[in-house]
Amino acid sequence: MRISRRQALAAGAVASTSATLAAKTLFAAETADFKLKYLLASCMYGYTNVWEVIPEVARTGATAIDLWPKVHGSQREQIDELGEETFGTLIQRWQIQLGCITQYKLGPFAIQDEMRLAQRLGCEMIVTGGRGPRGLSGPELKSAVEDFIEQMKPHLEVAEETGVTIAIENHANNLMESPDSLRWLAELSPSPNLKIALAPYHLPQDAEAIADLIREIGPSIAIFYAWQHGQGAVESISADQQRLQMPGRGSLDFKPIVNALKEIQYDGWTEIFMHPGKRGTPIHESIQSVTYEINRARDYLGQCLSSTESSEVANKTRPEGIRMSEEEGKRQAIVMGEFNQLNPREAYVILNQGTEPPGPGGYTMTKDPGTYICRQCNSALYQSDDKFESHCGWPSFDDEIEGAVTRKPDPDGLRVEIICSNCNGHLGHVFEGERFTQKNTRHCVNSISMRFIKKGDDIPPMIVKTKK
Ligand SMILES: [Zn+2]
Repeated sequence: MRISRRQALAAGAVASTSATLAAKTLFAAETADFKLKYLLASCMYGYTNVWEVIPEVARTGATAIDLWPKVHGSQREQIDELGEETFGTLIQRWQIQLGCITQYKLGPFAIQDEMRLAQRLGCEMIVTGGRGPRGLSGPELKSAVEDFIEQMKPHLEVAEETGVTIAIENHANNLMESPDSLRWLAELSPSPNLKIALAPYHLPQDAEAIADLIREIGPSIAIFYAWQHGQGAVESISADQQRLQMPGRGSLDFKPIVNALKEIQYDGWTEIFMHPGKRGTPIHESIQSVTYEINRARDYLGQCLSSTESSEVANKTRPEGIRMSEEEGKRQAIVMGEFNQLNPREAYVILNQGTEPPGPGGYTMTKDPGTYICRQCNSALYQSDDKFESHCGWPSFDDEIEGAVTRKPDPDGLRVEIICSNCNGHLGHVFEGERFTQKNTRHCVNSISMRFIKKGDDIPPMIVKTKK
């Protein structure tokens, strides 16, 4: 959007006041009703490529991914193949967080390296299991949980140092199996970095009892699995029967459960979950149908939450999951491979921070609606709506596509260089405070660093380079 310099100056004060008001109103609306914070389990898609699962995070209403290793998923191992840097680029590009790494199989006493990896990737949680004698109750159970916590102490030191929370999942045939074992862990935990990953699947299927447990151990819950037992994760039963583990399909009523979460104003993660009978396979036929099934479950949980409120609110919150998946479906696809070949003129600008001569050529005067993508990697950088005439001789934009452009101090020490967040290719420079437009920002971009895709034409997938 383009407005004149004078209009911009005049509008500046008013615009910022109304923006503040709008932000306040929005905040009030958001805090008025309770929302679950969703985390997407990568293994719901079996061994699917992690770069194909990442775009599904937003499509399932989640903001973070939980990386699962083999045998249930393989996305954790894929990070070792891709390289941490490439993985970091991917989650940055999709504006999601690495919310958790599940390492049940490493166990609680072998996750020190994993905690350090988590820290490097900005991940604040690792899920694992308990260790100790099984089948105990009463004072024996209490002292076994005490012993376990004692053995956890050196690991909790690393947890505190790395800012990682270790969440212990309750599991069949484990010290941490019964509701009482969870009560003791919550009561005896010596560190805010030792918490609980609550799996109703492994508990007696009594909704009210699970709700009461949530009220008791609430502040210790870091992850809540929206997951019921159904008929179990058994290979010999049909896929439909296996999916009775999903919220809204099996017989467990999640209404008391999610309303207990609401009552305690639970602010940890919720992971909609099931295990297919055959390990390492997706819970449904295709990526799209897995996402659809998760959204169906999310819709059900939303109904459970809103059923205690007025029907007007219920109607508003119900179809959210499906709506969001359609919107998010328009995001750019990703492929792994080699970047586009550059000719010498392109390479001079993109790889060597060169600047093309100013003038009316290239995209400087282009006004057609569409998207400007990176010449080297196809990443969508700018929308034509954000382009304006600056008369500086280069294409100018007052905003970028979220997450697509990285700013870094220029070697000249004066300006701020802009590079493509995906391939690090040089784009140009960004200037602030010139008051050309309301956003008061000018991305001054070399035409040669970009390619224009007319509105309606297919945007090619963004190329992500694998580690050599
Ligand atoms: Zn690029």
